[in-house]
Amino acid sequence: MLLIKNANLFGPNPEGKKDLLIAANKIVFIEDNISEKAPYITRVIDANGHITVPGFIDSHCHFAGAGGEGGPATRTPEMHISDFFEAGVTTAVGCLGTDGITRTPKSVLMKAKSLNIEGITAYMYTGAYQMPPPTILGSIAEDIAMIEEVIGVGEIALSDHRSSNPSTLEIAKIAAAARVGGMLGGKAGIVNIHLGDALNPFQPIYDVVKNSELGFKQFRPTHINRNKHIFEDAKKYGLLGVIDITASSYPYFPDYEIKPSTAVAELIKTGVPLRHITMSSDGGGSLPGFDGNGNLVKLETGKPLSLLHEFKDMILNENIPIEKAVQIISTNIANALRLNTKGEIKIGMDADLLILNEKFEIKTMVAKGILITDDYKFVKKNSFGN
Ligand SMILES: [Zn+2]
Repeated sequence: MLLIKNANLFGPNPEGKKDLLIAANKIVFIEDNISEKAPYITRVIDANGHITVPGFIDSHCHFAGAGGEGGPATRTPEMHISDFFEAGVTTAVGCLGTDGITRTPKSVLMKAKSLNIEGITAYMYTGAYQMPPPTILGSIAEDIAMIEEVIGVGEIALSDHRSSNPSTLEIAKIAAAARVGGMLGGKAGIVNIHLGDALNPFQPIYDVVKNSELGFKQFRPTHINRNKHIFEDAKKYGLLGVIDITASSYPYFPDYEIKPSTAVAELIKTGVPLRHITMSSDGGGSLPGFDGNGNLVKLETGKPLSLLHEFKDMILNENIPIEKAVQIISTNIANALRLNTKGEIKIGMDADLLILNEKFEIKTMVAKGILITDDYKFVKKNSFGN
């Protein structure tokens, strides 16, 4: 059992100084004082002078690799478990993107299984940009209902030149299949939507909700900060449903994008309910970099570490309270994706937490009760010893 003493706890709400006892993979006690001499305690960590928050949830990343839009040499590699460890991400949700031809949901599933063994909790969306979406068992509903790791479908591309341009009926059918699969599997059955650059990108979702029995909570549009006109539309859509900000470009932000931490501050100011705002990394996706004349000068991959940077910037630059920043990168996502044991530090929840110093560096990371980072160093290795 692991004992954390003197935690300045944001679970996400501020609870003051607490001691936490972790047994197996769960938080079993939260008290003002738990004795270090209690039986079976194998390790005591002093969190004094730091904050303790729930582990981050990266709800949109390409952990089995992605890219390829610039030819074979622009395919991005599979992500490494350390990409998540360095970012404080204890739960990740993987997906395919443009390339559902040479990459398959099966490879995403196997990578999710590998990450689950290596230390974090990993889920996935079945499908890709292609229509009909590629699946593992033959249908979206079967994948979601029958495969533990599959919690939804996506990313379904709308309003993008790379999209398969699904009709309102096709989107409704995908969402209905995700919903039924979700009901049978006890999951959210989310449709993860990639929004492109076209005007009125939310319109297809409004059309589906208007013409079916489906609600906004079935959909989760992402990349809503990719340019100013989409962001303006997101302020209206965000009153009705969850909107997801993409952090991956850090530290490079072209002028037409809205920096994620700034986007959060502006959405809150506009009156978008906090519970509707989430952020993900798009890690593993390809990121083009341009010079001042708009020429492509580099190609990088997105990193979950962008979430930790934006968490810090939300608090230090935008004066967003810690508990609200935690909700955006953890609690709200757990609620939207119905990950019932994630996103909060509470008795009975999975022991996924971070102890951060005043510079928001990770002193300690615990995932599923296992110590991942101890005194600023990784102590958990992957299967190959690195
Ligand atoms: Zn995307």
